[in-house]
Amino acid sequence: MAIKMIKNRVKLSIIVNIIFFGVFAIFVFHSKASPAFLNKVDDLAEATNIVSNGSRDRKVIALTFDDGPHPIYTNKILDILKEYNVKATFFILGKHGELYPELLIRQNQEGHEIGIHSYNHINMKKEKKEVVEEEFNKTQQIIFSKTGRKAQVFRPPYGTYNQTVYDIAVKNQCKIVLWTYYQDSKDWSNPGTDKIVETVISQARNGDIILFHDHNEASENQTIEALKEIIPDLINKGYKFVTISELLKQE
Ligand SMILES: [Zn+2]
Repeated sequence: MAIKMIKNRVKLSIIVNIIFFGVFAIFVFHSKASPAFLNKVDDLAEATNIVSNGSRDRKVIALTFDDGPHPIYTNKILDILKEYNVKATFFILGKHGELYPELLIRQNQEGHEIGIHSYNHINMKKEKKEVVEEEFNKTQQIIFSKTGRKAQVFRPPYGTYNQTVYDIAVKNQCKIVLWTYYQDSKDWSNPGTDKIVETVISQARNGDIILFHDHNEASENQTIEALKEIIPDLINKGYKFVTISELLKQE
């Protein structure tokens, strides 16, 4: 009898451990997979004003480029997009937009969307409201003065935000746009063209938001080379590339 009880206890303890470590593993996996995961402990992620993908029902994908514009790399990327008649979204830094306004004009003229990243690439979660607001407004002003349009999309640096950042986005009728967690190309880390291509192509799904950078000297050529493979491949598979605002349009 005693042995049976001990056996049952051991069984119970094994089951409890499996459940505990299972839940723990899921938690760790998600927190690694999505940098914005920790925000999900707030109610913020429930808000529809924060997006990391579009509708899964339409065969559309959004390419996004952060930190530009850059006088060489952004132009090269725009050339590729033009060649395939593909529209994308550029989350710019205000300070780079100020230096290279002709690129904002070109992006706008060629049908791409320009969004706000920040002025100086600050971590907005760690800054006072006044600083966040100034970074946002200065960048918005640069976009508006060069294109005559106000940005409707906003990606805070590192994908981190809090209530203050969220409120500023809402006040300015901007959506906070993250990226689909498995579509972080990590091009900034110089992983190799093949790796970038594989990451994006092997997991591509309807509604994905793919993250690239157009102002990272170390990896820019890899980003450009990867785009030359990714775009025709996904077009052949029937995907259409759209801006974020187009991706989020309700049918
Ligand atoms: Zn960035």
